[in-house]
Amino acid sequence: MMANSRHRSRAPRSDDGEDKEYVGFATLPNQVHRKSVKKGFDFTLMVAGESGLGKSTLVNSLFLTDLHKDRKLLNAEGESLANQTPPPLRTEDSRTADGLWVNVSVCVAVSERISQTVEITKHTVDIEEKGVKLKLTIVDTPGFGDAVNNTECWRPVTDYIHQQFEQYFRDESGLNRKNIQDNRVHCCLYFIPPFGHGLRPVDVEFMKALQDKVNVVPLIAKADCLTPSEIKKLKEQLREEIDKYGIKIYQFLDCDSDEDEEFKQQDKELKESTPFAVIGSNTVVEARGQRVRGRLYPWGIVEVENPSHCDFVKLRTMLIRTHMHDLKDITGDCHYENYRAQCIQTMTSKMNADERVESPVPIMPLSTPDVETGKLIKKKDDELRRMQQMLQKMQQQMHEQDL
Ligand code: GDP
Repeated sequence: MMANSRHRSRAPRSDDGEDKEYVGFATLPNQVHRKSVKKGFDFTLMVAGESGLGKSTLVNSLFLTDLHKDRKLLNAEGESLANQTPPPLRTEDSRTADGLWVNVSVCVAVSERISQTVEITKHTVDIEEKGVKLKLTIVDTPGFGDAVNNTECWRPVTDYIHQQFEQYFRDESGLNRKNIQDNRVHCCLYFIPPFGHGLRPVDVEFMKALQDKVNVVPLIAKADCLTPSEIKKLKEQLREEIDKYGIKIYQFLDCDSDEDEEFKQQDKELKESTPFAVIGSNTVVEARGQRVRGRLYPWGIVEVENPSHCDFVKLRTMLIRTHMHDLKDITGDCHYENYRAQCIQTMTSKMNADERVESPVPIMPLSTPDVETGKLIKKKDDELRRMQQMLQKMQQQMHEQDL
């Protein structure tokens, strides 16, 4: 066995066996690729919107996992009810029409309750496809809109996003920066009900509360309730309203002009189909002699992955195949950077204010302070020292980045 398991790319040789004018940096993309594959990828997706719009069903359909296998349903007194979730899909049922998830195996599924009161739940699933590992975290926000009073119902969601930034900021300033667990939310699918006439005030406020913290992707939920012309009309209306209310949703990045025609066409279709109208289902039904993921009604079958029935495939393509990286980049470069800049600003002004207070004139009387005051001063000093250290680290990092 080799002592060093790292692989090196071999430089191509010329005919006479000598390396001629070949420096070797052309192998850089391969090295990056190999390293990333080895490390694996992570992605955190949040779903938000009114309760009962099919959020959990959709993420189950998207990533072929049964998120709520372990979910205990509680009654009004908080007692556990019988497990009412549908049986999980078998792996062979989990194949998609375009073969994207063929050979997917769900390795681990951890369910972790984040907070009892706000009912935000986080699920982490490790998915492997053709040797590429994806650690997918889904943050579900069940229960939103169930209360009579929906004032500031987005607060638990924005708080959650904020907490993840805070944790990342702390870890980034700590000693073990290499192994930071990144739990920042990369995308939030916001579910809009299909029944109303466009956006409700709560939808506007909810999305506006999220827009500077996370990439918001609005969706029309339960699209099987609408005819194709109704979907078209609702999409137009939603686009107008999003514009009118100045809601900043995730903007699909323009593809490069040198991309191939097929890619350009796909990109155009994706953009034109927003907000995506989606249908979710955890059941496999027989349609046209094939087993497909769909919803069986007395009058027919709605197929989740049929592009003429809904935009499910477009959403999945966008999230997984074409824009996952961009969603992560914007989270890091834009949303998190804003948060970080604000933090540094607050810390700096706090330190300046503290320095002004610590003027040459002694604040405390010269007589021996009592024990309580002494403790307070020590606490304050410790806090100040911590903040100074943090700020120094930040400045050093920023300096290193500039170089
Ligand atoms: P959540 O509370 O938003 O997570 O909603 P659930 O995923 O628990 O779904 C609530 C109900 O809506 C369930 O009975 C689902 O079977 C149903 N449902 C989910 N997705 C769809 C859909 O696309 N169309 C229709 N008609 N019903 C759906």
